Amino acid sequence: MSNSFYDKILSYKKKQEEKNPMDLEEFYGNTIIEPFRIRSVEPIRFTTMAERTELLKQAGYNPFLLKAEDVLIDLLTDSGTGAMSSAQWSAMIASDESYAGASSFYKFESAVRDITGFKHVIPTHQGRAAENILFTTIAKKGDVIPNNTHFDTTRAHVEHNEAEALDLVIEEGKEPQKIHPFKGNMDIEKLEETIEKRGVENIPAIMITATNNSGGGQPVSMKNIRQVSKVARKHGIPFFIDACRFAENSWFIKTREEGYENKTPKEIAKEMFKYADGCTMSAKKDGMSNIGGFLAMNDDELAKKCRSLTTLTEGFPTYGGMAGYDMEAVAIGLYEALDEGYLRYRIRSTAYLGEKLAFAGISIVQPVGGHAVYIDAKKMLPQIPPLEYPAWSLANALYLIGGIRSVEIGSVMFGLQPDGTEKPAPMELVRLAIPRRVYTQSHVDYLAEAVIETYHQREKLKGYKVVSEPTVLRHFSAKLEPLE
Ligand SMILES: *Cc1c(COP(=O)(O)O)cnc(C)c1O
Repeated sequence: MSNSFYDKILSYKKKQEEKNPMDLEEFYGNTIIEPFRIRSVEPIRFTTMAERTELLKQAGYNPFLLKAEDVLIDLLTDSGTGAMSSAQWSAMIASDESYAGASSFYKFESAVRDITGFKHVIPTHQGRAAENILFTTIAKKGDVIPNNTHFDTTRAHVEHNEAEALDLVIEEGKEPQKIHPFKGNMDIEKLEETIEKRGVENIPAIMITATNNSGGGQPVSMKNIRQVSKVARKHGIPFFIDACRFAENSWFIKTREEGYENKTPKEIAKEMFKYADGCTMSAKKDGMSNIGGFLAMNDDELAKKCRSLTTLTEGFPTYGGMAGYDMEAVAIGLYEALDEGYLRYRIRSTAYLGEKLAFAGISIVQPVGGHAVYIDAKKMLPQIPPLEYPAWSLANALYLIGGIRSVEIGSVMFGLQPDGTEKPAPMELVRLAIPRRVYTQSHVDYLAEAVIETYHQREKLKGYKVVSEPTVLRHFSAKLEPLE
């Protein structure tokens, strides 16, 4: 895994200075190519605009209700949508499906321990199951859990246990255009204030989400993790990392934080986890798998309680809702996510899309995060007021024009209040999430062309109205209609 093609690029300059006995110069090129070749293909289907117009109408103008086969490029999410490697597939065939003590579990446990250093490893079927077990065990009414920004499912589990999910991301993290290398950092002063105001006894854990998904996939610096850890340890509060994109975060630390340029992503990840007392993980992200997750920690007593609940809701603690072959895939995927060649390609290809859009004049969240590009639809479509859903309109136009499925992160997702009234969301964004190892540079080039073409036709775009909706999480199943 070391000694990849891209490691060689790094030492390119140095090598050039060395005398080549053949008198030929080494060539690496400027293009960051996909660090894999393709041996199994999955056809994607082309449709006409007339077909897509009809399909979208049938789906109630809600991209969530489209059939995946009617989508050309699917950027709905990067969760569980990645391509697995031949190493993962071959390990899956040789899995151990024993109910208790399967060798596949021990491989999984040893990979998680090796990377995170945590003593107890509890497998779960995905990230939210780990959150459910953790918060059901530690949180109670009146408690508060500080985080840089809670991801939707994390917030939901904290609130389900009647505790408060508090977001303490730094101010820079709330401004889409503000350039800052670590916009996912937590505001340490606010954290100290919260502890003082609410009392140590009401804070069962402090969390950091790395990278910060709900804040645009922005990274957290090692310095910030160290500071949060120091505060947590001073007060004796457990510190957990929401580690879904730990490998992408390690890469940002390597490339943006002083003192880490010569460390491997694995060394950086290990250091991140060293400052924490445990983590929750969705293996559908940097586990490079289609399903899976885990909860890990050092505390023996807490682990005992969590294992009991795992047995009740997930399964026996040596499989916890995963098949043996899922655990095999994750055990390998965690290392593949830390491969430098992969990470360089991953982060570069997301930035590449962002740069193309920004160069064409499209407003995006800056700097580009690890797993997605976010388009500012409020800026692009000033003719559509927030409660006529500009980001929804843009997402639908991307499907009509390019066959691309994206997701609205705006007033359809967040606007409906518990009392049934509507309030505009703070931002109207369209997220283009990039699945891991799935699309090639030509897909991304096409994608950029389609978004730019949509931008050229922006004045023709109209707002939408909701015609039917559920009372919670309405974006998943609401039906809409275009306004005339
Ligand atoms: C996806 C995600 C989760 C939840 O994981 P699931 O596997 O979808 O249940 C939690 N936190 C973050 C930051 C995530 O991105």
